[in-house]
Amino acid sequence: MPTPDPGPVPGDLTPWAARSTRGQRVKRAVLGRCARCGAGDLGASFLELKDECPNCGWTFEREEGYWVGAMVVLFAAVEGLYVAFLAVGILAWWPEVHWNVLLWAGLALNATAPFLLYRWSKTVWVGLHVAFSPQEMDSDTAGRTGSS
Ligand SMILES: [Zn+2]
Repeated sequence: MPTPDPGPVPGDLTPWAARSTRGQRVKRAVLGRCARCGAGDLGASFLELKDECPNCGWTFEREEGYWVGAMVVLFAAVEGLYVAFLAVGILAWWPEVHWNVLLWAGLALNATAPFLLYRWSKTVWVGLHVAFSPQEMDSDTAGRTGSS
């Protein structure tokens, strides 16, 4: 279990981008943790991510429409699971493949997996974002506009 970064320490001016490697940030995100500090417990509910990290206070949603990238992560993960499921089923039953079982189980997988992986897809998207744009971790304003 990775230990989270202690968070903002008064007087510590080390940029967040210098505190972790790209691989560490992606690993934290895949484990459902804050990509910036490594803290867990990021769920506001079963489906929703908290607005900010409870440890370092970083705002996850960087701008309006930010979670479209998480939808791409979610789609890739669900379809990757589905392809793996089909491949294992076909290989396990070859040459007498139980197509009806694969059809109905595949439908069930595609109906449930998006809900099970929804929150996870958001942490992975945040992790991928800061893996390639680490300077984002040192901005807490999240580029938001408007007053609502
Ligand atoms: Zn954090």
